[in-house]
Amino acid sequence: MSGTRCDVLIIGAGGAGCSAALHLALRGSRVVLLERGLVGGQASGVNYGGVRQQGRNPAELPIARKSREIWGRMKALAGTEAEFTVTGHLKLARNDAEEAELIAYLDVAKQYGLPLRMVGRNALHGEYPWLGPKVLAGSFAPEDGSANPRLMAPALARAARDAGAAIHERTEVMSYAHDGALFHLRTVRGEEFSAPVLLNLAGFWGGRVAEAFGEAVPVKPLSPNMLVTEPMRYFIEPNLGVVGGNVYLRQIPRGNVIIGGGYGESNPGEPGEMPWSRPVPEATMEAARLAIALVPELEGAQIIRSWSGIDGQMPDRIPVIGPSSTTPGLFHAFGFSGHGFQLGPAIGAIMSELVLDGRTDVPLEAFRITRFAEAG
Ligand SMILES: Cc1cc2nc3c(=O)[nH]c(=O)nc-3n(C[C@H](O)[C@H](O)[C@H](O)COP(=O)(O)OP(=O)(O)OC[C@H]3O[C@@H](n4cnc5c(N)ncnc54)[C@H](O)[C@@H]3O)c2cc1C
Repeated sequence: MSGTRCDVLIIGAGGAGCSAALHLALRGSRVVLLERGLVGGQASGVNYGGVRQQGRNPAELPIARKSREIWGRMKALAGTEAEFTVTGHLKLARNDAEEAELIAYLDVAKQYGLPLRMVGRNALHGEYPWLGPKVLAGSFAPEDGSANPRLMAPALARAARDAGAAIHERTEVMSYAHDGALFHLRTVRGEEFSAPVLLNLAGFWGGRVAEAFGEAVPVKPLSPNMLVTEPMRYFIEPNLGVVGGNVYLRQIPRGNVIIGGGYGESNPGEPGEMPWSRPVPEATMEAARLAIALVPELEGAQIIRSWSGIDGQMPDRIPVIGPSSTTPGLFHAFGFSGHGFQLGPAIGAIMSELVLDGRTDVPLEAFRITRFAEAG
């Protein structure tokens, strides 16, 4: 097959793919990244912007810790911190059972070196006088915060290009082959690319890439419902979440409050079609109602926009990360189940380690692609 030959082919220019391109290019690999739409045009560019470690599945915490370290030096790495701001993340309990859950997580956090402190019933309303009366307690992760999703993947992509990576937008991969030594990809316009290594960092659509190599997994589209208010006085400093996750909100210094809760609608499309997603008005109104219960001052704020996006949701709500079980040279990382924005920078670093060093310090066993087949 003719066409472009390189060291590593990457499918998907979300945060994971752009970070992988950058980390590999910085170590001298000839990288080609293929993206169906635009860099950061899917989940990585439209998410809530939470850079949160607390509350994660313990298996994800080593990756989240590694990613947090990279977020801390994002400006040096990518030329901008993508508005990453360390506001802390305050996770709130609205009843006794939820408070017990927060207390139980303190031990998990300790085990993984994640700073976390409980804010008890008496202290909470003193420290955060704008919280509503239904909130009973909270746990505060001082190293967490938020960033602007619109900026992160494009910044990583620019840095990757500067380091020598080739990034092709509007270039959908339509067919996949492996001849025992090389991967051969053909795009929607008939261009051909080959390499001994292929990274499947295609978000929800990563399930389709895996399937093409005989590794079907039960990934479903997940479309969190998002809204943003008009600018208000700036008073909500921490990124706020709740046990159970049915509402989350953060305020940017300009004053707008970004709120997530419930689910929108989406269609990931067939190969050759563009996906779409849209918010659901009922979910938007319910998220606003839950947000007002947390922060009563939000009552009356005008909602100026609502939206959704598409991530891949796995049945156990943790991603697939690691080598293929069928095809040497193929590595997967997809199905981030609604919380892969924070992880993206580390996923790229981990992919570069797997490819160039044959190993990574982060335990990946829990994320193996074979776990679904093993479970029957
Ligand atoms: C509304 C919403 C809110 C969220 N909020 C948060 C949050 O606050 N914090 C957090 O940590 N996470 C959050 N997430 C999850 C997070 O956004 C995702 O887990 C993460 O962005 C996934 O990154 P990715 O690079 O794996 O995938 P994506 O960003 O989906 O990128 C994959 C790319 O692959 C491309 N692609 C697919 N198939 C092909 C093909 N055949 N050929 C070429 N290109 C292809 C797609 O076009 C896409 O651009 C949220 C997600 C959504 C949708």
